[in-house]
Amino acid sequence: MSRPLRVRFAPSPTGKLHLGNIRTAVVNWLHARSQGGVFLLRMDDTDTERSTQAYADGIQADLRWLGLDWDDFARQSDRTDRYDLARDKLIADGRLYPCYETADELALKRKSQLQRGKPPIYDRAALALTDAQKAEFEAQGRLPHWRFRLVDGDIDWLDLVRGASHFEAQYLSDPVLIREDGRYLYTLSSVVDDIELDVTDIIRGEDHVANTAVQVQLFQALGGAVPTFGHLPLITDAEGQGLSKRLGSASVELFKADGIEPLAIVAYLAALGTPDAPKVVTSVADLAEDYDIGRYGRATPKASMDEVMQLNTRVIHALDFADMADKLPGWDAELWDVLKENVEQYAQAPEVLAMVKGDIQPVIEEPDFIAEAAKLLPEAWGAQTWKDWTDAVKQATGRKGKQLFMPLRLAITGQAKGPEMATLLPLIDRERVLERLAVA
Ligand code: GLU
Repeated sequence: MSRPLRVRFAPSPTGKLHLGNIRTAVVNWLHARSQGGVFLLRMDDTDTERSTQAYADGIQADLRWLGLDWDDFARQSDRTDRYDLARDKLIADGRLYPCYETADELALKRKSQLQRGKPPIYDRAALALTDAQKAEFEAQGRLPHWRFRLVDGDIDWLDLVRGASHFEAQYLSDPVLIREDGRYLYTLSSVVDDIELDVTDIIRGEDHVANTAVQVQLFQALGGAVPTFGHLPLITDAEGQGLSKRLGSASVELFKADGIEPLAIVAYLAALGTPDAPKVVTSVADLAEDYDIGRYGRATPKASMDEVMQLNTRVIHALDFADMADKLPGWDAELWDVLKENVEQYAQAPEVLAMVKGDIQPVIEEPDFIAEAAKLLPEAWGAQTWKDWTDAVKQATGRKGKQLFMPLRLAITGQAKGPEMATLLPLIDRERVLERLAVA
């Protein structure tokens, strides 16, 4: 029987979320939501020097802002006793062994291996140490770090993104699981948690592929079910150069400052790397509807903030006014309906609103014509006004078409393009229209 789907997003709280790990969160969340699975948030905070509570809080606030809710929460720093148990089991089973080499000694070994044309794999010299030798190292004050002993042979998995994936254990170094100071490394803590928290699918960046190879053996050594893996190719910017500083550090803070709707980010990242165009939706749950992680290709996706902004425009136009009201001070639903096509980003909203309620710079190239038209402005103010007015101006001046409409539009809005004048005009106070027509 297959286990119910459980995924986790496992950021290290050593910094803010950025585009790359937001994408990992989005993909995991949608994979879970599309299949009625569980989404777990796990703080990988075993690196006690770099992890902070402030970053952990910030990550949670960012996920909430994005609309990515979690069903379960875990923190690695709470779970050290679980890692102790795993350590003891691995030692008892002969799969975890102490090593005493310093970083310099290891670097030398690697150098000489490379000089001899050999792959720089840990030579397992520590396995041959006698108890007396170990005792001597310890007497010198050297503390051991601990390595996981890999078993020679093929490591294969069917990756949700990369397809059939293959490693040979003899070409991998036995990974260090415990540092000299006793702290556990992510390689171990992650597998212990994935087993105990029943994670069925691990979806993460391609930078973890080699970790996966050794973690597969760790799952087996600890008696856990090996989960399904999916490794997403890492995002680059439009030039394909890795993430530029701007894009790489693009954080929720920046998105907020740029007036980007969370829906635009989530929809953009959901589609990035698939052949599909991003969807314009009004809730993140809608994105889960026909979501399929199999749509991601192996090619490097190129992200662009311009594309995000374009999608943002479409999202802003699709949302209900009520959901954006706080970002549109001075607006109401009716005004928004009429004028939104002129607002590509929230930053432009005040200027567009000014067409109706504020000060604009009227453009008047033919003052005589405008003065004549102003005299004919109807008293009755409503849906008919524009038609009645332009009919009257046409009769009086003989003008028609663009020659008639454009000077009026330019005088009243200051712009050559904009909403239908018939709809716009009655939204502006008659007095205000007269003032604008009077500027010469
Ligand atoms: N804490 C790890 C990271 O941020 C998690 C990787 C994983 O998903 O296993 O890279």
